[in-house]
Amino acid sequence: MAVAKVIIDVALDQEFDYRIPESLAGTLKVGMMVKVPFGRSTRDGYILSFAEFSDYHGELKEIIGVSTTRAHVPEHLVELGRWMADYYCCSQEQSIRTLLPAAVRSGKVKPKKVKVYRIGDRQAAEQFLHDNETKPSAALRIGLIQLLLPGKPLTAAECRAAGFGDSTLHTLLRHGIVAAEEITIRRDLFGDTRVMPSTPLAPSRDQAAALELISKMLHGETSSHVLLLHGVTNSGKTEVYLQAIAEALELGRSAIVLVPEISLTPQTVRRFRARFGDHLSVLHSRLSDGERFDEWNRINDGEVQIAVGARSALFAPFRNLGLIIVDEEHESSYKQSEAPRYSARDVAVMRGKLENAVVILGSATPSAESCRNAATGKFLLAKMSVPVENKLAPHIRIIDQRLSGPPEPGKSNFFSKMLIDAVFDRMNRGEQSILFLNRRGYARVMICNQCGFEARCPDCSVAYTYSKLHETLSCHLCGCMIPAYTACPECGSPEIRYAGVGTEKIEAVAGAVFHPARIARMDSDTMRSAEDYENVLERFRRGDLDILIGTQMIAKGLHFPNVTLVGIINADLGLAMPDFRAPERTFQLITQVAGRAGRGDIRGEVLIQTRNPENETICFAAAQDFEGFSKFDLEFREMLDYPPFSHLIAVHFRGEDESALVEFATKFTEELRPYAHEGIRLSGPSPAPIERIKGKFRYMLLIRGRQMKLLRQALRVLTLHRPVPRGIEVYADVDAQSLL
Ligand code: ADP
Ligand code: ZN
Ligand code: ZN
Repeated sequence: MAVAKVIIDVALDQEFDYRIPESLAGTLKVGMMVKVPFGRSTRDGYILSFAEFSDYHGELKEIIGVSTTRAHVPEHLVELGRWMADYYCCSQEQSIRTLLPAAVRSGKVKPKKVKVYRIGDRQAAEQFLHDNETKPSAALRIGLIQLLLPGKPLTAAECRAAGFGDSTLHTLLRHGIVAAEEITIRRDLFGDTRVMPSTPLAPSRDQAAALELISKMLHGETSSHVLLLHGVTNSGKTEVYLQAIAEALELGRSAIVLVPEISLTPQTVRRFRARFGDHLSVLHSRLSDGERFDEWNRINDGEVQIAVGARSALFAPFRNLGLIIVDEEHESSYKQSEAPRYSARDVAVMRGKLENAVVILGSATPSAESCRNAATGKFLLAKMSVPVENKLAPHIRIIDQRLSGPPEPGKSNFFSKMLIDAVFDRMNRGEQSILFLNRRGYARVMICNQCGFEARCPDCSVAYTYSKLHETLSCHLCGCMIPAYTACPECGSPEIRYAGVGTEKIEAVAGAVFHPARIARMDSDTMRSAEDYENVLERFRRGDLDILIGTQMIAKGLHFPNVTLVGIINADLGLAMPDFRAPERTFQLITQVAGRAGRGDIRGEVLIQTRNPENETICFAAAQDFEGFSKFDLEFREMLDYPPFSHLIAVHFRGEDESALVEFATKFTEELRPYAHEGIRLSGPSPAPIERIKGKFRYMLLIRGRQMKLLRQALRVLTLHRPVPRGIEVYADVDAQSLL
């Protein structure tokens, strides 16, 4: 091949042809970063492909050389990157950048080096031992030589710890008996923490069936490379993952485990370490740049075979990938909200296909998309419908909040009598309770009783959230914050009322209602750091707390055997969202929270407070009837032609000048319309449910259809290659998860 196609940071989504000089022939690979002349300067760019000839009519410039300071994209990931750029309508640069962690891409992070000491001259060392055997004055030197002789180089600090000071070391160095060298070491992820090893558990019948299927898949004996593992909470999905990974390793292949960031808890990591030792990479958002750099290199150099991590761990550069596990596959956090707006679950399916790896999607409440794929045979299905051992599923009851009527003056009725009694019951028995409300803050809105004024963020079309602790009003969308009003800014009345309720208020009220309970709250307002989080969990685990109050932060992956009661304060919150996935999310959340009750030997109880006790979603969730819910939800979606019966793309338009924005969005839609052949529906452009964020108006065009390839290509050109008026932003969100 004589020509390389290169993308360069300066130009958006454009490949440039360069001639490959004689000196580099045969050494270049796709994904390499090379130096190329560009205009009057030199730039770095990635090679995307090679060609025999170029369509360019001018004279081609030559590649200058291969970048030595910056990491290359592993060749086998480049095709995945191309596919992402295509499918998600983002630029090649955005896509390829995702394949490498920033810490690796920047070229600024360096491997960690330490100076170590080893025996430099073995013969001299042995001679010294022989000559000085009986000399007391040589005791230290003899000791150090004996320490170093077995071969493992030690740092000066390690020698000191063994009782040999620097002067002894330097004397031996001077005599050439000991030599010093610099070696690269990996930054240590786990520090001094140790975990008790675990061994595989004898599989239950369901687990055995799932594992047998996975084994066939690993041997390429099945019609699909994707398995939907639908297993209720406690059915032992994680144990299946562990044994599936073990089999992949035995076959000499490696494995990636994706979990939602929020459930990447020390508890989760411990289970993997217990089974596989410390030969695994854990990739979470709190790693330092140095740690991230080292983990990437450990994987790239083949030092580890397993990576556990959040979304971006999907791009771990394993070369002989055998297995990708996506746990909690229904989680919307697998969708990235910035470009490239990819879904890690869907890209996992694609990576599995490109690299011949098996993909397991696990969930207790699989997404409608995956259920449909299993129903049509695109995915294989394994079900695990009973909890392992005699762990009983919790007893779930609905409490009709309408029956409790309006609160007495000065009192609140956040807690029904039944819930209050149930919590006290647990306290009397020394058991623990979780109270769940998926909304933080003290109160949702500040309202003036005189004129009806409602405090809203001036830049976003949402009400402020009031925090009593900080006496502030803050906007959840843009994060701006002002001191809380003491009088109405409109009419001056001091009669201010707060409506709606968040976890902060629930905590305050619970303190009075459940006196003398020991209570802690867990939400993003109180959990500022990983330590906060660990501290509260540890106190709860030790039994120093009776009640844990929290948002969805407590819904995931926490196992506390002594929690026997979960109270869902207001199950209706999510249902009110203007989104066709609102029922699905509500069902998932209730199921997940309910799963926190009774993970020990005592049967748990879940109380769901609602003002919609007849609502189908709430009833199905209370009955834990996933099949029933899924059928109901799919029928509704089919009727309205929503995913999974169609593909959905949301095109977002943003700008401060509303009339210019509407004009542009309308023109854009008209330009796109010719590509919307039969079966494709364009709705909009119309104002998004949240009409304004940070002072920018938001319009949305919804596109639904079954065959979207052509339209996606047009959309890609229109969003990436067509000039957009100043102050306006447009982007496509393919397979949009959020429609707000
Ligand atoms: P899930 O991930 O489906 O919620 P887990 O894998 O966490 O379920 O299993 C739930 C509990 O049951 C864990 O404590 C686990 O150690 C235990 N467990 C799983 N499989 C078995 C088995 N085959 N035999 C005994 N205990 C098991
Ligand atoms: Zn007022
Ligand atoms: Zn705002």
